[in-house]
Amino acid sequence: MTKRNRPWGHQEPRNESTNRTLHPDTLAIRGAMIRTGFGETSEAMFLTSGFTYDSAQQAEASFTEENDHYLYSRFANPTISMFEERLALMEGAESCHATGSGMSAMFASVAALVSQGDRVVASPAMFSSCYVVLTEILPKWGIQVEIIENNEPETWERALSSPAKAVFIETPSNPLLEIVDIAMVAKFAHRAGAQLIVDNVMASPLLQKPLEFGADIVMYSATKHIDGQGRVLGGAVLGTKKYVDEILKPFTRHTGPSLSPFNAWVLTKSLETMSLRVNKMNNSAFEIAQKLEALPGIKKVWYPFLDSHPGNALAKKQMTGGGTTIAIELDRPKAEVFEFLNRLEVIDISNNLGDSRSLITHPASTTHRRLDAATQAKMGITESTLRLSVGLEDPKDLFEDLSLAL
Ligand SMILES: *Cc1c(COP(=O)(O)O)cnc(C)c1O
Repeated sequence: MTKRNRPWGHQEPRNESTNRTLHPDTLAIRGAMIRTGFGETSEAMFLTSGFTYDSAQQAEASFTEENDHYLYSRFANPTISMFEERLALMEGAESCHATGSGMSAMFASVAALVSQGDRVVASPAMFSSCYVVLTEILPKWGIQVEIIENNEPETWERALSSPAKAVFIETPSNPLLEIVDIAMVAKFAHRAGAQLIVDNVMASPLLQKPLEFGADIVMYSATKHIDGQGRVLGGAVLGTKKYVDEILKPFTRHTGPSLSPFNAWVLTKSLETMSLRVNKMNNSAFEIAQKLEALPGIKKVWYPFLDSHPGNALAKKQMTGGGTTIAIELDRPKAEVFEFLNRLEVIDISNNLGDSRSLITHPASTTHRRLDAATQAKMGITESTLRLSVGLEDPKDLFEDLSLAL
């Protein structure tokens, strides 16, 4: 064995020359597979922190990038590469960089772009940790962040009439599923010289493709629909090769928010079933949202594909389904809302989402507790608001659980 680095050899993909366009469901199974010489069916898991070289010369050439050789798993690792390349193929993005959590993806996607004095503009409603990064952490380093008041075109136009470096939006938003017009914001963002970053976690890679509507960067918490089975944390940032290689990676290589190869392997296997899972969860969520609207005791139901949702037309323009999450406002005070939660027998009380298990949470006291009352009110969160993440159980059992508890 002369090549100490690759004792197993490396199996080249068959038929690489045919250049066919494959459906994302096919890419989810077959995209970016690296097979070793053992010819394993399932992707190999490279649980290694480092890599070795045949010679000092090869090590030097690898560091100067004359050689294509893995250096260290903080920078890149074959199992993580499979996950990144497969997700990029499915998203239709040039490049992807995976991170250890959704929050490290969000933080790196913005922080890598901005310098002291730069301006960032963001949509009004979002996941509370993203809000903390934008309003407390980045301003400490002299970044000016403006969270706008509402998603009206005039408000966006006004906010982006002066230069900005980045625009951050979450659509649908967590928890009230507010819809932001990606194409409209992209137009104003580009005019202001900004890159548009979309947190696409709530929609999942299956139901919304922000890059097709003019976004520059898409980020995910892979913890949610990508894993979708409540097992591992992970994150990903997707964009042009230039952004990922020249802006994002120089930031993450040294700050180190790396994904573990084990988690990357779990997430790679999860991509194979994501379309089956998210489609079923999306269909169940729509069915349950419609039935909930007719139930006494429920003041309001927010679900993007319901006619009653204020962003319905826009959601139908930029999403292929309303998503897996429903927001509900009960016609009851907090104590009775808690009693309702405690009476549920199938649905778990949990603040995660996008899971195969249906999960329900009270955002005001859990996920969005970190925000003050005025900010919660601005986002439309009250003491009687609940967020339901619809899982893979039979939708009739889920609806019965909700109606019996009411
Ligand atoms: C969960 C979530 C995140 C953060 O992801 P983690 O993997 O928990 O770090 C970011 N944005 C949205 C919309 C989320 O729901």
